[in-house]
Amino acid sequence: MSNEYRIDTIAVHAGGTNDPLTGAVVPPIYQTTTYAQDELGGSPRWCYSRTGNPTRAALESALAALEGGRHGLAFASGIAAANAVLQTLSTGDHVVASRDLYGGCYRLFTKVFARFGVRFALVDATRTSEVVSALRPETRLVWLETPSNPLLRITDLRAVCSAVRRAAGPGVRILVDNTFATPVFQRPLELGADLVLHSTTKYIGGHCDVIGGGLITRDERLHADLRFLQNATGAIPGPQDCFLLLRGIRTLPLRVERHARNALRVANRLEADPEITRVTYPGLESHPQHALARAQSSGFGAIVSVELGGGVERVRALTSRLRLWPLAESLGGVRSLLCHPATMTHASVEPDARARVGITDALLRLSVGLEDPDDLADDFLAAVRATRRPLVHEGVPS
Ligand SMILES: *Cc1c(COP(=O)(O)O)cnc(C)c1O
Repeated sequence: MSNEYRIDTIAVHAGGTNDPLTGAVVPPIYQTTTYAQDELGGSPRWCYSRTGNPTRAALESALAALEGGRHGLAFASGIAAANAVLQTLSTGDHVVASRDLYGGCYRLFTKVFARFGVRFALVDATRTSEVVSALRPETRLVWLETPSNPLLRITDLRAVCSAVRRAAGPGVRILVDNTFATPVFQRPLELGADLVLHSTTKYIGGHCDVIGGGLITRDERLHADLRFLQNATGAIPGPQDCFLLLRGIRTLPLRVERHARNALRVANRLEADPEITRVTYPGLESHPQHALARAQSSGFGAIVSVELGGGVERVRALTSRLRLWPLAESLGGVRSLLCHPATMTHASVEPDARARVGITDALLRLSVGLEDPDDLADDFLAAVRATRRPLVHEGVPS
């Protein structure tokens, strides 16, 4: 889809030309493994559904359009997409990655690809100079995530991309995991990145009902390599999942704008409560990188992290009293969810590595959904109040 349109129009139309057979205005679910071929030795557009499927192709072109890319690829999960990117590397290659990283990506780096001799340098990517000084002659990839998970630190994408280019040239590819921001708020390819990764499980699917991943690029060579790996290693989504993801994309701008408005309201109300020791949200003026977040993206997302006085025991008591905030992995769906990173998403990160990035045992990550934000804040604050006094009597340190 042409880049002449704005994001609302792209979201509704991308990947959705009318079905040539029937005129259906929604791309059909092509639930087929294979396709009859016209002749021996031809090169048919469709030959086997691992290699290509029309429903998946519609999703892939929608992903590309949303990010202002030329090519999109869909995977069975966000981690499958990350895996494909790392499979472009060889033994001895080096990756510079933001150390404040989604736990599953960190696990994939340190527990899987490290065994194959890929080396990783984990740096504080909010400092451009740390990224640049970690570059080595063998560096092939720079892996960034902003806002980061779960601490919502902001990497200056324009600054890091141009500094890496100056220092390292075109042999180093820059990937941005854009799952938290979504292309509605932040377009990394326009800020200098080569490749965008999504867990489409989150805002793009948006309804807590499908797992998926995506990769988007403008680089023909990189796309060809990734497309080869998608087929060669096979972590593709099925047509039903592609259909659900496309359906999610139609309302993506509407949803994420409301998610973000709700998140700001919840963050403001929680920040005003003295029992909550810290509220982190890039949309709050108290966020140390608020100005950078405002300059780099058109919205601040809907993940809020909070720290409570009372430590992990308080967190345990609190979670059992909440009614609108189920304790659950994942984020970015219509339902609000609460996550305790130290025991959930970041449990695979060693305790000292968690401490280094600032993921304490009292940290909670809130994925603010599409409920009324005052109902969400009321529920949370009621649980905060209900867990206050007994804990003080028991002398649990804050
Ligand atoms: C969830 C997530 C992933 C992994 O995606 P899955 O779909 O769960 O495999 C990667 N990066 C970020 C930022 C995520 O939130």
